[in-house]
Amino acid sequence: MNAEIITIGEEIISGHTLDTNSAYIANKLSEIGIAVRYRVSVGDRVEDIEEAILTAWNRSAVTIATGGLGPTTDDITKKAICNAFERKLIFHDDLLKLLEDRFRSLHRKLPAVAQNQALQPQGADLLDNPIGSAPGILFQEDERCFVALPGVPSEMEAIISQSVLPYLRKRQGRGHIEIRRLRTTGITESELSEAIADLEPTQDHFRLAYLPGYQGVDLRLVCQASEEAEAIAKVDKLAEAIVGRVGAFIYTIGDQSISEVVGSLLTAAGKTVATAESCTGGLVAKMLTDVSGSSSYFLGSVVAYSNDVKHDVLKVPTELLQGYGAVSAQVAEAMATGIRILVSSDYGLSLTGVAGPTGGTPEKPVGLVYIGCAQASGVVSKKINLFGTRQRVRERSATMALDILRKTIIGR
Ligand code: ATP
Repeated sequence: MNAEIITIGEEIISGHTLDTNSAYIANKLSEIGIAVRYRVSVGDRVEDIEEAILTAWNRSAVTIATGGLGPTTDDITKKAICNAFERKLIFHDDLLKLLEDRFRSLHRKLPAVAQNQALQPQGADLLDNPIGSAPGILFQEDERCFVALPGVPSEMEAIISQSVLPYLRKRQGRGHIEIRRLRTTGITESELSEAIADLEPTQDHFRLAYLPGYQGVDLRLVCQASEEAEAIAKVDKLAEAIVGRVGAFIYTIGDQSISEVVGSLLTAAGKTVATAESCTGGLVAKMLTDVSGSSSYFLGSVVAYSNDVKHDVLKVPTELLQGYGAVSAQVAEAMATGIRILVSSDYGLSLTGVAGPTGGTPEKPVGLVYIGCAQASGVVSKKINLFGTRQRVRERSATMALDILRKTIIGR
């Protein structure tokens, strides 16, 4: 089954709004084994939207459009849908009542403009929008279907997971789909591929995808089989073989972020951590505190950007700063030990490096970062060399610092 995504809106084609809806939908479809063949964006002209809908309807088994369904947009997408499918708009009393009830429960009166939402293309199935006023619109035939959703990402996502994915899975009617995500960090996509290429399945119903992101590369295993047990067994076997080859780089099997994994480990061990950050400016602390409940294991952070703060607050000896320079293994270790003592945490995690693009020297080039990790039994540091922009160097080194903390906690 091949799919097409249409994103509608002047702000999308002008570049003012980044089209994240397409990426979200494409990802969700691939998880259930539906390949996206086309992604199309159109502006706010009814004729252009109509043409895009008809083109997609004629070449794609599944079409999902987003945008232009809200009451403020003069129903531009609904007009184009009606033109394309040669339908009229008809009034749905039940939909109006549902919207009035929802607004009443919020102690608000349904705005006159929102009443337009009760007008929907004749013959369409309507998909409940649990968090907004515009329902999704579905047209279906034996061989193909068309879905239109609101552009607001949270509303689109809610309808996709609540209605569209279950509907498409039922349409596929081909047994069970097992999906497993192996999340890696500290290894590049090409290194991963070199290590596991011979394990890659070649069948259509069983796939291995490499998904690089700033925290590392995710491996997604998807297997479709008539029996659930068969799909699970195949994915288990492949996952086990991959762990056997590159297990040291896998921080979780599942959807947790590295901060969540570290948080779970600290919670289970009843331990605490604090950070001392130079080149990352507090990013590791931000990532740790992105996790709800992190106050039970994260004590605090010192952004020690200047040598004075490294010395005065973290007690890094002047001899180390002068003898080895701020970007050195010795200073990283002293920072990690310093923060651990300062706030009485079980672990102290530190980073010092050259994020660039300026400030590099032949001995200490841009991308050179030292990460220190201290605990009661001692302190270690790791030197890493990264490529890319300032942002990328900071994000990659922050993720690697969390991975070093993870390995320290589990004693690897
Ligand atoms: P409403 O009129 O109720 O806001 P709508 O269905 O008419 O909803 P649009 O007006 O097209 O949707 O978009 C609403 C908002 O959703 C836009 O301002 C934009 O921020 C966001 N949005 C729309 N399309 C996309 C997209 N493809 N990717 C990411 N964000 C989008």
